[in-house]
Amino acid sequence: MSGCCALIVAAGSGQRFGGDVPKQYRRLAGLPVLRRTILAFRDHPAIDRVAVVINPAHRPLYDAAVGDLGLPAPIGGGATRQESSAAGLDALAADGDVARVLIHDAARPLVDGPTIARVVAALDRHPAALAAMPLTDTVKRVTAGLAAGTVDRTGLWRAQTPQGFHLAAIRAAYAGAGAAVPSATDDASIAEMAGQEVAVVEGSPDNLKITTEDDLARAERLLESRGAPPPPEYRTGHGYDVHRLVAGDGVTLCGVRIAHDGALSGHSDADVGLHALTDAILGALAEGDIGSHFPPSDPQWRGADSSLFLAHAVALVRSRGAALVHADVTLICEAPKIGPHRPAMRARLAEFLGLATERISVKATTTERLGFTGRREGIAAQATATLSFPTRSPGP
Ligand code: MG
Repeated sequence: MSGCCALIVAAGSGQRFGGDVPKQYRRLAGLPVLRRTILAFRDHPAIDRVAVVINPAHRPLYDAAVGDLGLPAPIGGGATRQESSAAGLDALAADGDVARVLIHDAARPLVDGPTIARVVAALDRHPAALAAMPLTDTVKRVTAGLAAGTVDRTGLWRAQTPQGFHLAAIRAAYAGAGAAVPSATDDASIAEMAGQEVAVVEGSPDNLKITTEDDLARAERLLESRGAPPPPEYRTGHGYDVHRLVAGDGVTLCGVRIAHDGALSGHSDADVGLHALTDAILGALAEGDIGSHFPPSDPQWRGADSSLFLAHAVALVRSRGAALVHADVTLICEAPKIGPHRPAMRARLAEFLGLATERISVKATTTERLGFTGRREGIAAQATATLSFPTRSPGP
């Protein structure tokens, strides 16, 4: 399973917008609106892939706007916004390797990295989450041009996108909503109808939806005031671990069980690869070490599956709004031979980390029969982990 897919819904025909070209293909400060929206997700470290739902009649516009980005073929949308979402979700499910999805309006090109990160992080604790802003204006009910009352705005928020979901949960909600789907005004309301808990995280006041010519002009002014976006900050952590070899019939390394004429001894399952990698991630966060989070003196970790420790470190990364962008593990032993197990190890790490395998390296070396690893008294591992922390855009 890959981690998180962005599903950009761009199938609207833009009836509320003047002109022949639908709003998502209009140019905004020199680039098509849709291209800006796609790049915001494609370049975000928490997003593994981007899929786009379009009106098939717009294919030439789509190809001209983003055909050079190397995206998978666009998905054909439906008659309404929600039917297009449903078509996109079905296509992602057919791919079979997407666990989480962030659905986003193509007409919100100014979405920022921290907003995306907050929605992704909320999906660790909830099946659904949306970006929103609390209502600050006083709200009037108006009848025939006259104020007919003031609405209590306590607890009222303006929903934005991205709206994030566990893919299986939102598909189940869509299936259950049936005839109510076309009239729903956002995807989160479908999850709400199904009784799912939808977390609300802070969006951004700049994450406006381009609906009118005025919106397009306002978006131009916002982009002008932003200047070049600040680059993300990268931090790298390092981890090292050793476990002793004792009598036994196999070892677990990077989550893969390998038959061997020995076993690793330790309080948990003694997977040195996962321990070193967990420490590398904690190092990049400057959050102590594996022993401070999972004390060896605590009996609950006896024989524990070390992927639990790694999952804890990955959750800490997300809670800080950061994203893992690369991991590199080196296993140091004379035996067993690691090479044949490398693809399985990378696949396991990809699953644990929610990261594409291209961003995960597993290497191995011997120590020329020197030292404790050379004498087969133990196995060692070193790891580095690189995290990206999105930087807030400077204000106007
Ligand atoms: Mg250890």
